[in-house]
Amino acid sequence: MAKYVFVTGGVVSGLGKGITASSIALLLKHRGYKVFMQKFDPYFNVDPGTMNPIQHGEVFVTYDGCETDLDLGHYERFIDEELNYTSNITSGKIYKSVIEKERKGDYLGATVQMVPHITNEIKNKIYEAAATSNADIVITEIGGTVGDIESQAFIEALRQVQYELGKNETFFVHCTLVPYIFGSDELKTKPTQNSVKDLRNMGISPDALVCRAPYDTGINIKNKLSLFCSIPVQNIIDSVDVNNIYQIPLNYYKEEIDTIILKQFGLPLKKINLKDWEELVNTVDNLKEELEIALVGKYVELHDAYLSVAEALKHAGYKVNKKIKINWVDSETLEKDKVNLKEVFKNAKGILVPGGFGSRGIEGKIKAINYARVNKIPFLGICLGMQLAVIEFARNVCNIKDANSTEFQPLCENPVIDLMADQKAIINMGGTLRLGNYECKLEKNTLAYKDYKTDTIFERHRHRYEFNNAYKQELEEKGLVFSGINPKANLVEIVELPNHPHFIASQFHPEFKSRPTKPHPLFLSFIEAANKMK
Ligand code: GLN
Repeated sequence: MAKYVFVTGGVVSGLGKGITASSIALLLKHRGYKVFMQKFDPYFNVDPGTMNPIQHGEVFVTYDGCETDLDLGHYERFIDEELNYTSNITSGKIYKSVIEKERKGDYLGATVQMVPHITNEIKNKIYEAAATSNADIVITEIGGTVGDIESQAFIEALRQVQYELGKNETFFVHCTLVPYIFGSDELKTKPTQNSVKDLRNMGISPDALVCRAPYDTGINIKNKLSLFCSIPVQNIIDSVDVNNIYQIPLNYYKEEIDTIILKQFGLPLKKINLKDWEELVNTVDNLKEELEIALVGKYVELHDAYLSVAEALKHAGYKVNKKIKINWVDSETLEKDKVNLKEVFKNAKGILVPGGFGSRGIEGKIKAINYARVNKIPFLGICLGMQLAVIEFARNVCNIKDANSTEFQPLCENPVIDLMADQKAIINMGGTLRLGNYECKLEKNTLAYKDYKTDTIFERHRHRYEFNNAYKQELEEKGLVFSGINPKANLVEIVELPNHPHFIASQFHPEFKSRPTKPHPLFLSFIEAANKMK
């Protein structure tokens, strides 16, 4: 039987609930327990796949092809476990499933209601995560803040779980803010008191508080919170602001959050070894020299849109002892005639073009790829970045001047990137991309093979368009190497250029599999090449 940790938030959003949940999971894993994680998002989209990155940041993709909240990226990077379809549940998913059951007649004439039908559906998702993962402990984060209208059914479901299973099987962590008020020069507990009151109105007394504060709250504040919130003082955990998020699990360890949870569960306090994590924090804290990488995208003012890519770059940087400085280049600005690319990329030791959708900024990205190819600057293209590298090569090396993707020019004469027949038949936008893990065979004697050191890999996808094999021979003759192919559908997965210090692009998203202590091979070789640049 699994045990359950629930992480809620109060007062304001953006307190770092996801990092708190991940840090707790990391500590429990380092104590020798099998952990699994889950996020509940109270919005009505079935998944974030159709949302604009401005609304939602990056869409993270699981190996089994679910489009999920970016917090799942934090979870995977912290606990180094692959999550799945049970890991991100939205109100949209819950209601869709309940309504489908009602239409099938599954409720046998009952009036379908918030309680018990919606709440049962939510509880089933919690138990399903435990059953399919076989975890000892499932950590579930509830998105939004306690008191939001949207999240009430989720909170009610958690209350029922606690009632069903009992106090020793569940543990509630509530994350709040303890602000410093200038003038009165002190930390204030009232917002936390009120937020705990809100939670108790819904039948849940939190077992621990995680208090985000600018500095250690101190024993007086903790005593006050303990008294007003009926929480033992040792269960009030400080979460002070940090520069390096990987420091947070170590800070919580000092506050003994893992011990407190395991005691309530009645589980043995197995020995903990945090050496890998301490070494990571030490490396990150002591990086001195910078390495600049230009990331050419269309949401560069919004770094969350490229969160996993930025993290994967940093992870590879740790291995070569460099602090990665991302030069966020807005692709649209590169489209102007007068733009001086030499000036834009003057400090860039590598150029990366990440994934994306739609035609805005496309020509600017193609210009950046051309600049990297011609000037022999290390290049990594991801998904859209690969498609545009192919278009650039077709136009400027093979002289197919109107080469394009049918995504940007549906009637183009030379669609080097095009839809497969099965995609042409699709009407619904949501969940119909090519998603999740697909197999890829690597050609010997290529950069890809050298990076992975194996001939078969599985990587995560999120795209609709594909390389058009009708152009393969022509591009190959002019020097483009197709180093990774999906064996079942004969789809191009990786392209590269041999007569270049480092030029490689993949149709899949390697960033999702990078870990702080295990950089992804494609990112590592890219950063190593960049590190060699004068
Ligand atoms: N827009 C492209 C496609 O749909 C690329 C997608 C991506 O970069 N994730 O195929």
